[in-house]
Amino acid sequence: MTTLSGITPSGRLTLGNHLGALRRFTDPEGFYFVANLHAMTTKHDPRRLAALTREFATLMLAAGTAPGTVFVQSDVNTHAQLAYLLECTSYVGELSRMIQYKEKGKGRPMTRASLFTYPCLMAADILLYGADRVPVGGDQSQHVELARDVAIRFNREYGETFVVPRLAKAAYATRVKDLADPTKKMSKSEADDAVGTIRLLDPPDVIRRQIMRAVTDSDNEVRHDEAAKPGITNLLDILAACTDGDPVQLATAYSSYGELKRDVADAVLAVLEPLQKEYARLTTDPGAINELLAQGRDRALEASLPRLRAAERAMGLAGSA
Ligand code: ATP
Ligand code: MG
Repeated sequence: MTTLSGITPSGRLTLGNHLGALRRFTDPEGFYFVANLHAMTTKHDPRRLAALTREFATLMLAAGTAPGTVFVQSDVNTHAQLAYLLECTSYVGELSRMIQYKEKGKGRPMTRASLFTYPCLMAADILLYGADRVPVGGDQSQHVELARDVAIRFNREYGETFVVPRLAKAAYATRVKDLADPTKKMSKSEADDAVGTIRLLDPPDVIRRQIMRAVTDSDNEVRHDEAAKPGITNLLDILAACTDGDPVQLATAYSSYGELKRDVADAVLAVLEPLQKEYARLTTDPGAINELLAQGRDRALEASLPRLRAAERAMGLAGSA
């Protein structure tokens, strides 16, 4: 089974991204990429995109993702090349029905064409590596369905070329919530200074302060109860995820919110400080990072090129060696 996962550099990475994604990027045979092409479907700042792409790739390496499994999407040309072939296999009708497009772009002036065709690029990401099970969050499941439909259609019209992917429900230990509004999830695309979002590279004293100020309720009873106590439940979930504990069990050890928050801050910093140290160490040698990313690029290219070539041949593109 091929493990493949991409993260779009749409904002600085959060504690949620680390606990739910980054720290699970552990398959030495996997493919983990910074999905920078996906970050250009809405108005973007080129300098910020370049900086975030580099930061994401370095953080993936710092998190312990095996060198050689990390790459930058735009470094591997097969993604954009196959995306075009898949645009020639998809229909305007089905792309128009994508919820993300309907919510973010349909009918609005200056909607980028790439927002509309985005699912074709995502299908290319998946189909290039023959990934059979694709674990994604709920907001991406419709796009995986489309990748399935396109793969089935391509195989039928041009001959068996792609593995048809299946949607796998992502097994999240936690869905980290926003510390200032624990009814919504923590997201990297929040404003840079949003107080409820912990960024992986925030200074430790800032992180501690954010946790100590996390929104709770007023009854001072530490109990795991998502509906009645979303703030406390979020803190217990974070503590459990950082210490490999059980959130319901952990609750019984606390008799005040202050005590719980102090322990959560300690546990989060115990996870993030080594990551920040490793990040700092890596950034002292940019050449070495380039070398690691070149390894990842070459390996991804080697793995994906045969399928791109097969698709080209099947579609009648002559001349591809
Ligand atoms: P955006 O606001 O751009 O959607 P995001 O923080 O939601 O950013 P995604 O790019 O949607 O991040 O997802 C990247 C990865 O991080 C996915 O594997 C996703 O499941 C995981 N992830 C995102 N937010 C959380 C969270 N709050 N808790 C746990 N995992 C998360
Ligand atoms: Mg998201």
